[in-house]
Amino acid sequence: MMNARQTTFLILGGGIAGLTCAIALQQKGIDAMVAEGAGEFRPAGAGITLAANAMKAYRYLGLDELITQAGNPLEYFEVLDRKGKTISAVQTNTLGDGTPPVAIHRGTLHQVLLDRVKSDCILNGFRAKTIEQQENRYRVSFDNGEAITAEYVIAADGIRSIARNTVLPSMLRYSGYTCWRGVAENDVALPLTKATETWGTASRFGLVPIEGNKIYWFAVKNAPCGSERMKAYTREDIQRDFAHYHAPVEHIISQTPPEDIIHSDIYDLKPISQFAFGNMVLIGDAAHATTPNMGQGACQAIEDAVILADCITRHSVIAEAFKDFEQRRMKRVHGIVNRSWTMGKVGQLQNNALAGMRNVLFRSLPSGLMRKQFEEVSEFKLN
Ligand SMILES: Cc1cc2nc3c(=O)[nH]c(=O)nc-3n(C[C@H](O)[C@H](O)[C@H](O)COP(=O)(O)OP(=O)(O)OC[C@H]3O[C@@H](n4cnc5c(N)ncnc54)[C@H](O)[C@@H]3O)c2cc1C
Repeated sequence: MMNARQTTFLILGGGIAGLTCAIALQQKGIDAMVAEGAGEFRPAGAGITLAANAMKAYRYLGLDELITQAGNPLEYFEVLDRKGKTISAVQTNTLGDGTPPVAIHRGTLHQVLLDRVKSDCILNGFRAKTIEQQENRYRVSFDNGEAITAEYVIAADGIRSIARNTVLPSMLRYSGYTCWRGVAENDVALPLTKATETWGTASRFGLVPIEGNKIYWFAVKNAPCGSERMKAYTREDIQRDFAHYHAPVEHIISQTPPEDIIHSDIYDLKPISQFAFGNMVLIGDAAHATTPNMGQGACQAIEDAVILADCITRHSVIAEAFKDFEQRRMKRVHGIVNRSWTMGKVGQLQNNALAGMRNVLFRSLPSGLMRKQFEEVSEFKLN
């Protein structure tokens, strides 16, 4: 058997949670080893919106300005009906202390984070297969035949976390809708600072301007889970389904290279009752994957990373730090998972008449209400 490498802290997964956590720990003088399953980091994915709470969390790491410059700060968010008429709107850069959300290509964000983690702390092509507890250490075995022993494991290995599956029975819930994402040139007269989400019947479409004069879009449609028909959908199929949406929806889809369109069925993780398991802790999607309806999955992963590093510096016993993390995070993240789940049901109403009534109802709500809801989520402070 190959000799196992050794480390004090092992982070499983080099996604947004894992890399942000590595940076946060590094800034506290802790060099954690990051084991990432993918052979290399590729600029995968489309865009992502980092709400003000994530930007405030990045402020603690001194990364907020850099990310704001690399991405596109958003001033407005609007919900539209499929004819393009406003249902509700919020000026996002006047919420709280005025920190704007930032829309950014995932590849750009990943690169900003990667550049800040010491390169000898990252192992690519290390996909964890098994995690065994041996006295006071963990032995993690990887697909490539290697093994690492670690005193502490921070599991940031995403919604299908192998670490979580080792310690807890958990359940992924299919949302009832499937999603396509892409990035196209912004060659239409769309104001660059406005993000929109259009509510139809059993479908939604989002347009989000990101850096480099590009538009990140997402198309969501009710569908059975794992549908072969949806998997085989072409760009033209998506265009056809959204042809009855306002301009420039169809045009933007048509401008997207078909090979760059990403398809995913949308799941979340039914809230679990524990994140800390002795010297192992779950963070990010591994702990609390949410549907994307509030755009908060990565934002919460970023909050996790900053709070976990803070807990680690406050406790000399790491298992206590992990428990403290669990206590500080659980209520907030579960609130978001549950709210996002409900918002998805409302946004994806199947019945035409009900979808029409929903739009009328949301139009009649006082604008302060939406603002208040945004404001609550947008707050982030280390206490
Ligand atoms: C359609 C859609 C739109 C979204 N939009 C937004 C948005 O606008 N804003 C927002 O905040 N969030 C958004 N999210 C959610 C966001 O993408 C996730 O919450 C976020 O990526 C979670 O980060 P993570 O690092 O926890 O997990 P992941 O991003 O899943 O990263 C996990 C990492 O672990 C690696 N890994 C997996 N298994 C192993 C293993 N066994 N061993 C080693 N490595 C492993 C993976 O390769 C990956 O690099 C969206 C999600 C979807 C599906």
